[in-house]
Amino acid sequence: MNKFFFLISLFFIFNINAQNIMKSNTKKIVIAHRGASGYLPEHTMESKAMAYAMKPDYIEQDIVLSKDNVPIIIHDIYLDDVTNVLEVYPKRVRNDDRFYVIDFTYNELLQLNVTERFDQKSNKMVFPKRFPAGKSHFRLHSLQDEIEMIQGLNKSTGNSIGIYPEIKDPEFHRKNGKDISKIVIDILSNYGYKTKSDNCILQCFDAKELKRMRMELKSNLFLTQLIEFPKDEKLLLDYATYADAIGPWIKQLIKRFDENGQIIYSDLVNDAHRLGLQVHAYTFRADQLENIPTFEKLLEIGFIGTGIDGAFTDHPDKVVEFLKK
Ligand code: CA
Repeated sequence: MNKFFFLISLFFIFNINAQNIMKSNTKKIVIAHRGASGYLPEHTMESKAMAYAMKPDYIEQDIVLSKDNVPIIIHDIYLDDVTNVLEVYPKRVRNDDRFYVIDFTYNELLQLNVTERFDQKSNKMVFPKRFPAGKSHFRLHSLQDEIEMIQGLNKSTGNSIGIYPEIKDPEFHRKNGKDISKIVIDILSNYGYKTKSDNCILQCFDAKELKRMRMELKSNLFLTQLIEFPKDEKLLLDYATYADAIGPWIKQLIKRFDENGQIIYSDLVNDAHRLGLQVHAYTFRADQLENIPTFEKLLEIGFIGTGIDGAFTDHPDKVVEFLKK
């Protein structure tokens, strides 16, 4: 190995370990995943207000741009599985039978009703025990509207709850001529979210793009590298050069069950901590237990067994309660 790079690596490992000692004592955090999405349709303002009242540490925003570059809070680049777009704009479908947020202006998007998530093909609810599909009246909203509500509530209640925005599919946005990361970072900055102490964590699955946010767009925010596939785990050393945390799927934390049914944990959390990366895992759902007998047990496995630092959850009240004990 080139001597220079060897020395640089040593410097990083030493430095990162020093940070790690500080981070291992940090408070465990609760992230309201798409709001209080276990109780009200995901990413609606109502779901965010309810989540706020449950006092999580952060509330999550997924972000997709409209045709006129307004950042819309919605989980996918598609509209058809959480809105009535098919009824309102039946002709605006693309060749793949899907309706895209990016094909509509902000004002057009405001005409849609938001509903509990349903499977587009079978027309069945994804989580059958949740808020009934198609009931009541919910709307889409912009990132600015949500930030103003959370900051407003921070003022009126005296709490200090953070935001945890996710840039969705930057590559798709780029192909449609839009630089979503730049637009979002500028807005965050205008609302006072500029550094790691500003109560905002920015997340993305696209590693190249998250690295770009740090290196090229010069963001000083706390950055979380979301990881989906085991192959991504090999890239931890690279993530540690620009990110502050990783966000794995819960299942990535468990290697297997032994013959007595005991859990054998994967090395992911320890490896990440050794590199100074916090671990915020997704998604803890009280109505999707992944073969674990109770939600409490699932949380024990996550926070105590694997040692994660934070959890994305559809049921923030239950996780806040668990962490109090
Ligand atoms: Ca998300």
